[in-house]
Amino acid sequence: MGEATVRRVGVMGGTFDPIHTGHLVTAEEALFGFALDVVVFVPAGRPWQKEGLQVAPPEERFLMTAIATASNPAFEVSRVEIDRPGPTYTVDTLRDLKRAFAPAEMYFITGADAVLQILTWKDPERVLEEAWFIAATRPGYDLDRLEKQLPPELGRRVLTMEIPALAISSTDIRRRAREGRPIRYLVPEAVDRYIRKTGLYRGERGEVVEA
Ligand code: NAP
Repeated sequence: MGEATVRRVGVMGGTFDPIHTGHLVTAEEALFGFALDVVVFVPAGRPWQKEGLQVAPPEERFLMTAIATASNPAFEVSRVEIDRPGPTYTVDTLRDLKRAFAPAEMYFITGADAVLQILTWKDPERVLEEAWFIAATRPGYDLDRLEKQLPPELGRRVLTMEIPALAISSTDIRRRAREGRPIRYLVPEAVDRYIRKTGLYRGERGEVVEA
Protein backbone atom coordinates (compact mmCIF):
# COMPACT_ATOMS: atom_id res chain seq x y z
CA MET A 1 0.00 0.00 0.00
CA GLY A 2 1.31 3.48 -0.89
CA GLU A 3 1.65 6.21 1.68
CA ALA A 4 -1.41 8.36 2.29
CA THR A 5 -1.22 11.83 0.78
CA VAL A 6 -0.40 14.56 3.29
CA ARG A 7 -3.29 16.99 3.45
CA ARG A 8 -2.68 20.72 3.77
CA VAL A 9 -5.09 21.77 6.47
CA GLY A 10 -5.90 25.41 7.29
CA VAL A 11 -7.14 26.00 10.82
CA MET A 12 -9.00 29.29 11.03
CA GLY A 13 -8.88 30.26 14.70
CA GLY A 14 -10.87 33.13 16.11
CA THR A 15 -13.54 34.16 18.58
CA PHE A 16 -15.92 34.84 15.65
CA ASP A 17 -18.12 37.19 17.71
CA PRO A 18 -19.58 37.33 15.11
CA ILE A 19 -18.05 35.77 11.97
CA HIS A 20 -18.04 38.32 9.12
CA THR A 21 -17.23 38.68 5.42
CA GLY A 22 -13.61 39.62 6.21
CA HIS A 23 -13.08 36.23 7.88
CA LEU A 24 -14.61 34.39 4.93
CA VAL A 25 -12.45 36.26 2.41
CA THR A 26 -9.37 35.55 4.57
CA ALA A 27 -10.08 31.81 4.59
CA GLU A 28 -10.73 31.72 0.84
CA GLU A 29 -7.50 33.65 0.15
CA ALA A 30 -5.51 31.27 2.36
CA LEU A 31 -7.11 28.28 0.65
CA PHE A 32 -6.08 29.62 -2.74
CA GLY A 33 -2.77 31.29 -1.84
CA PHE A 34 -1.31 28.40 0.14
CA ALA A 35 -2.94 25.61 -1.90
CA LEU A 36 -4.78 24.23 1.14
CA ASP A 37 -7.11 21.25 0.80
CA VAL A 38 -9.53 22.40 3.49
CA VAL A 39 -10.03 25.25 5.96
CA VAL A 40 -11.44 24.25 9.33
CA PHE A 41 -13.03 27.13 11.25
CA VAL A 42 -12.54 26.72 14.99
CA PRO A 43 -14.60 29.11 17.12
CA ALA A 44 -12.74 29.63 20.41
CA GLY A 45 -14.50 27.95 23.33
CA ARG A 46 -13.35 29.93 26.35
CA PRO A 47 -10.85 32.57 25.17
CA TRP A 48 -9.00 32.82 28.49
CA GLN A 49 -7.11 35.98 27.52
CA LYS A 50 -10.53 37.71 27.30
CA GLU A 51 -11.34 36.97 30.92
CA GLY A 52 -13.74 39.56 32.29
CA LEU A 53 -14.89 40.68 28.82
CA GLN A 54 -18.34 40.00 27.42
CA VAL A 55 -18.21 37.32 24.75
CA ALA A 56 -21.31 35.78 23.14
CA PRO A 57 -22.06 32.19 24.21
CA PRO A 58 -19.93 29.57 22.39
CA GLU A 59 -22.95 27.75 20.93
CA GLU A 60 -24.23 30.93 19.26
CA ARG A 61 -20.79 31.75 17.81
CA PHE A 62 -20.52 28.17 16.58
CA LEU A 63 -23.97 28.29 15.00
CA MET A 64 -23.25 31.56 13.16
CA THR A 65 -19.92 30.14 11.93
CA ALA A 66 -21.66 27.00 10.67
CA ILE A 67 -24.34 28.88 8.73
CA ALA A 68 -21.79 31.33 7.29
CA THR A 69 -19.54 28.58 5.90
CA ALA A 70 -22.14 25.98 4.86
CA SER A 71 -22.14 26.80 1.14
CA ASN A 72 -18.37 26.37 0.63
CA PRO A 73 -17.38 22.70 0.13
CA ALA A 74 -13.77 23.42 1.19
CA PHE A 75 -14.83 24.94 4.55
CA GLU A 76 -15.56 22.93 7.69
CA VAL A 77 -16.40 23.96 11.23
CA SER A 78 -15.04 22.18 14.29
CA ARG A 79 -16.52 21.94 17.79
CA VAL A 80 -13.16 20.86 19.18
CA GLU A 81 -12.65 24.00 21.31
CA ILE A 82 -16.29 24.29 22.31
CA ASP A 83 -16.52 20.71 23.55
CA ARG A 84 -13.15 20.63 25.31
CA PRO A 85 -13.53 21.62 28.97
CA GLY A 86 -11.33 24.31 30.53
CA PRO A 87 -9.61 27.29 28.93
CA THR A 88 -8.96 27.24 25.18
CA TYR A 89 -5.36 26.56 24.20
CA THR A 90 -4.34 26.47 20.54
CA VAL A 91 -1.69 23.85 21.27
CA ASP A 92 -4.46 21.35 22.19
CA THR A 93 -6.52 22.29 19.14
CA LEU A 94 -3.64 21.77 16.72
CA ARG A 95 -2.82 18.41 18.30
CA ASP A 96 -6.47 17.23 18.12
CA LEU A 97 -6.97 18.37 14.52
CA LYS A 98 -3.62 17.04 13.31
CA ARG A 99 -4.69 13.63 14.59
CA ALA A 100 -8.15 13.92 12.99
CA PHE A 101 -6.73 14.82 9.57
CA ALA A 102 -3.55 12.69 9.68
CA PRO A 103 -1.33 12.72 7.77
CA ALA A 104 -1.55 16.50 7.64
CA GLU A 105 0.51 19.67 7.46
CA MET A 106 -1.17 22.38 9.53
CA TYR A 107 -1.54 26.11 8.79
CA PHE A 108 -3.04 28.18 11.61
CA ILE A 109 -4.74 31.25 10.16
CA THR A 110 -5.60 34.20 12.36
CA GLY A 111 -5.28 37.96 12.79
CA ALA A 112 -1.75 39.44 12.79
CA ASP A 113 -2.26 40.97 16.25
CA ALA A 114 -3.13 37.56 17.64
CA VAL A 115 -0.03 36.05 15.97
CA LEU A 116 2.15 38.67 17.69
CA GLN A 117 0.91 37.30 21.02
CA ILE A 118 1.87 33.66 20.40
CA LEU A 119 4.77 33.80 22.84
CA THR A 120 2.26 34.56 25.63
CA TRP A 121 0.18 31.48 24.76
CA LYS A 122 0.41 28.14 26.48
CA ASP A 123 3.40 26.08 25.34
CA PRO A 124 4.59 28.39 22.52
CA GLU A 125 7.41 26.07 21.40
CA ARG A 126 4.96 23.23 20.83
CA VAL A 127 2.52 25.58 19.06
CA LEU A 128 5.28 26.59 16.66
CA GLU A 129 6.26 22.99 16.03
CA GLU A 130 2.71 21.95 15.19
CA ALA A 131 1.90 24.50 12.47
CA TRP A 132 2.81 27.24 10.08
CA PHE A 133 1.11 30.54 10.95
CA ILE A 134 -0.70 32.70 8.46
CA ALA A 135 -1.10 36.23 9.83
CA ALA A 136 -3.94 38.13 8.15
CA THR A 137 -3.61 41.92 8.22
CA ARG A 138 -6.09 44.76 7.81
CA PRO A 139 -5.47 47.66 5.38
CA GLY A 140 -2.98 50.11 6.87
CA TYR A 141 -1.34 47.45 9.03
CA ASP A 142 2.39 48.02 9.31
CA LEU A 143 3.90 44.75 8.07
CA ASP A 144 7.41 46.01 8.88
CA ARG A 145 6.30 46.34 12.47
CA LEU A 146 5.11 42.75 12.46
CA GLU A 147 8.41 41.54 11.05
CA LYS A 148 10.44 43.65 13.50
CA GLN A 149 8.42 42.53 16.52
CA LEU A 150 8.59 38.85 15.75
CA PRO A 151 11.39 37.00 17.47
CA PRO A 152 13.36 34.87 14.97
CA GLU A 153 11.95 31.55 16.19
CA LEU A 154 8.46 32.85 15.45
CA GLY A 155 9.35 34.78 12.31
CA ARG A 156 10.46 31.73 10.36
CA ARG A 157 7.09 30.03 10.96
CA VAL A 158 4.91 33.06 10.08
CA LEU A 159 3.53 33.84 6.63
CA THR A 160 1.55 37.01 6.03
CA MET A 161 -1.45 37.89 3.92
CA GLU A 162 -2.95 41.36 3.35
CA ILE A 163 -6.74 41.22 3.27
CA PRO A 164 -8.51 44.47 2.29
CA ALA A 165 -11.86 42.95 3.36
CA LEU A 166 -10.56 42.86 6.95
CA ALA A 167 -11.50 46.53 7.18
CA ILE A 168 -14.63 44.81 8.50
CA SER A 169 -14.30 43.99 12.20
CA SER A 170 -16.37 42.04 14.72
CA THR A 171 -16.13 44.92 17.21
CA ASP A 172 -17.69 47.32 14.69
CA ILE A 173 -20.43 44.80 13.84
CA ARG A 174 -21.36 44.31 17.52
CA ARG A 175 -21.52 48.08 17.97
CA ARG A 176 -23.67 48.51 14.89
CA ALA A 177 -26.03 45.73 15.98
CA ARG A 178 -26.33 47.28 19.45
CA GLU A 179 -27.15 50.68 17.95
CA GLY A 180 -29.62 49.24 15.44
CA ARG A 181 -27.46 50.25 12.46
CA PRO A 182 -27.22 47.95 9.43
CA ILE A 183 -24.78 45.03 9.28
CA ARG A 184 -26.16 43.78 5.99
CA TYR A 185 -23.39 42.78 3.54
CA LEU A 186 -20.80 42.97 6.33
CA VAL A 187 -21.89 39.49 7.40
CA PRO A 188 -23.57 36.75 5.30
CA GLU A 189 -27.32 37.28 5.00
CA ALA A 190 -28.17 34.31 7.22
CA VAL A 191 -25.91 35.64 9.99
CA ASP A 192 -27.53 39.07 9.71
CA ARG A 193 -30.94 37.43 10.08
CA TYR A 194 -29.75 35.32 13.03
CA ILE A 195 -28.41 38.36 14.89
CA ARG A 196 -31.58 40.35 14.30
CA LYS A 197 -33.91 37.47 15.17
CA THR A 198 -32.14 36.54 18.43
CA GLY A 199 -31.30 40.06 19.58
CA LEU A 200 -27.71 38.94 20.16
CA TYR A 201 -25.59 42.06 20.93
CA ARG A 202 -28.62 44.16 21.78
CA GLY A 203 -28.93 43.30 25.46
CA GLU A 204 -26.93 41.57 28.14
CA ARG A 205 -26.84 38.29 26.22
CA GLY A 206 -23.06 37.81 26.22
CA GLU A 207 -21.38 35.79 28.93
CA VAL A 208 -18.37 36.64 30.99
CA VAL A 209 -15.43 34.40 30.15
CA GLU A 210 -14.28 32.38 33.14
CA ALA A 211 -10.66 31.32 33.39
P1 NAP B 1 -8.52 38.75 18.99
O1 NAP B 1 -7.56 39.34 19.97
O2 NAP B 1 -9.98 38.86 19.30
O3 NAP B 1 -8.28 39.28 17.54
C1 NAP B 1 -7.11 39.95 17.17
C2 NAP B 1 -7.33 40.58 15.83
O4 NAP B 1 -7.31 39.56 14.83
C3 NAP B 1 -8.66 41.28 15.70
O5 NAP B 1 -8.45 42.40 14.91
C4 NAP B 1 -9.53 40.25 15.00
O6 NAP B 1 -10.56 40.85 14.22
C5 NAP B 1 -8.55 39.54 14.11
N1 NAP B 1 -8.87 38.11 13.88
C6 NAP B 1 -9.18 37.18 14.82
N2 NAP B 1 -9.35 35.98 14.23
C7 NAP B 1 -9.16 36.16 12.90
C8 NAP B 1 -9.17 35.31 11.78
N3 NAP B 1 -9.39 33.99 11.93
N4 NAP B 1 -8.94 35.84 10.56
C9 NAP B 1 -8.69 37.14 10.41
N5 NAP B 1 -8.63 38.01 11.44
C10 NAP B 1 -8.87 37.53 12.67
O7 NAP B 1 -8.11 37.23 18.81
P2 NAP B 1 -8.95 35.98 19.19
O8 NAP B 1 -10.08 35.86 18.24
O9 NAP B 1 -9.25 36.00 20.67
O10 NAP B 1 -7.87 34.82 19.01
C11 NAP B 1 -7.41 34.43 17.73
C12 NAP B 1 -6.95 32.98 17.82
O11 NAP B 1 -5.83 32.87 18.69
C13 NAP B 1 -8.02 32.05 18.41
O12 NAP B 1 -8.01 30.85 17.71
C14 NAP B 1 -7.58 31.86 19.84
O13 NAP B 1 -8.01 30.64 20.42
C15 NAP B 1 -6.08 31.88 19.67
N6 NAP B 1 -5.44 32.20 20.97
C16 NAP B 1 -4.83 31.18 21.64
C17 NAP B 1 -4.29 31.37 22.88
C18 NAP B 1 -3.63 30.18 23.57
O14 NAP B 1 -3.51 29.14 23.01
N7 NAP B 1 -3.20 30.27 24.75
C19 NAP B 1 -4.34 32.65 23.47
C20 NAP B 1 -4.96 33.70 22.75
C21 NAP B 1 -5.52 33.46 21.49
P3 NAP B 1 -12.10 40.43 14.42
O15 NAP B 1 -12.43 40.85 15.82
O16 NAP B 1 -12.83 41.17 13.38
O17 NAP B 1 -12.11 38.94 14.27
